[in-house]
Amino acid sequence: MDYLPLFLRLSDRPVLVVGGGKVALRKSELLARAGARIGVVAPEVLPELAELARASRGGVVLEPFHPDHLSEQVLVISATGIGDVDRAVHAAAQALRIPVNVADVPELCDFILPSILDRSPVIAAFSTGGRAPVLARKLRAELETLLPAGVGKLADWLGARRERIRAAQPDPALRLRAWERLVDGPVAERVYAGDEEGAEALLVDELTAVSSVGEVYLVGAGPGDPDLLTFRAFRLMQRADVVLHDRLVSDAVLDLVRRDAERIYVGKRRGEHAVPQPDINQLLVDLARAGKRVLRLKGGDPFVFGRGGEEIEQLAAAGIPFQVVPGISAANGCAAYAGIPLTHRDHAQSVRFIAGHLRDGTVDLDWAGLLQPRETLVFYMGRVGLPQICERLIEHGADPGTPIALVQQGTLPAQRVLVSTLRDMPAELASAEVRGPTLTIVGSVVSLHPRLSWFRSTPRSTDV
Ligand code: SAH
Repeated sequence: MDYLPLFLRLSDRPVLVVGGGKVALRKSELLARAGARIGVVAPEVLPELAELARASRGGVVLEPFHPDHLSEQVLVISATGIGDVDRAVHAAAQALRIPVNVADVPELCDFILPSILDRSPVIAAFSTGGRAPVLARKLRAELETLLPAGVGKLADWLGARRERIRAAQPDPALRLRAWERLVDGPVAERVYAGDEEGAEALLVDELTAVSSVGEVYLVGAGPGDPDLLTFRAFRLMQRADVVLHDRLVSDAVLDLVRRDAERIYVGKRRGEHAVPQPDINQLLVDLARAGKRVLRLKGGDPFVFGRGGEEIEQLAAAGIPFQVVPGISAANGCAAYAGIPLTHRDHAQSVRFIAGHLRDGTVDLDWAGLLQPRETLVFYMGRVGLPQICERLIEHGADPGTPIALVQQGTLPAQRVLVSTLRDMPAELASAEVRGPTLTIVGSVVSLHPRLSWFRSTPRSTDV
């Protein structure tokens, strides 16, 4: 983070603007909205700017900048467009430790003025750290369309009832939940619709409706790219008190979980063991009984090689409310991002997902049964068993020239696709650097990859 976003109270505080032109005017208008007393220093000042400064109960000094102008100021903005003057303002402000902003010169800025969405008292600010202000404006515009118009009114309405809400729900955990219902339920809808009486009538019911038993959300987080989350997954990620995640959930996805949710890692780390499955199942039950909303985030889809079924079995037996949110499974994500359709009228009519479990170092599968004509095989497994898969398939009659693709870190920026044949893959693997997680796709659909590959990752995909 280059800058820490803060919301600064400026009402009735003196702020110095050096410069008398259009840029100084634009910045002063923003300061005026926050109620600052604006002092303008410049040999010449636009009449609108002078008027604005006076109206703010600041003033105008028609002379070149001098460090004495900084006395008593809480902030200073230099917008002269003259390099020497801007640098002098910056140096003088630095000496006095007054935060300074030099318009359009990011390296001379202690603070920057973000792009602001103002639904006061709700304010959202976007910044690109001075790199691309137009992008910040675009993002602000996008958010603008998502925020209900009455969100400022809702904040005021709830703010006026803060004390009552606290008194009606003294338990902090239940109160937090009550607040979440208030900002996201029928009360909020009434306020948005202008029906404050109706909202008032619902308030008490909503406050007492929250229960002390939590719930569990078993959520598929997809293969890695956070854009592949479902809307529902995202919504529940904002609602959770605690999240249990493992190695397959990407950092980019985890970053989207509510910031103050507790994070519990239950996967394997190098050299350590994973939390045993029965312990995870029990933990879900215990946390929900303690009243938490528990997010169990799983890579891909929870019901595809995810042991999701086992986790909710225990919840169901314990009578704990839960819901399951599907995710994009690794096969679907990797296939799409690698340009390998899983089925295709000219190549495959069916697709089979296979967990390539290793038992005593061997891959234990019904090889003869796997060899169906016009069928794509997808192996969910690391590279270790891959040479054996190639050998066994050939032994059982597969064409050694059958194309095979190893998709590494599918859908992530570092995705790589290694394409070969059943015959050559083991040798290629021996010299290739492979980064997990990996998924293997076997079948003639793989031959479409060079033509249909679109996802430009770094390093560039494809060693054909
Ligand atoms: N529930 C998950 C699968 C869990 S099994 C799902 O639906 O995707 C774990 C296996 O999934 C890994 O060993 C790997 O083979 C595969 N996998 C998961 N994410 C992947 C990714 N981003 N790229 C390649 N393979 C992945």
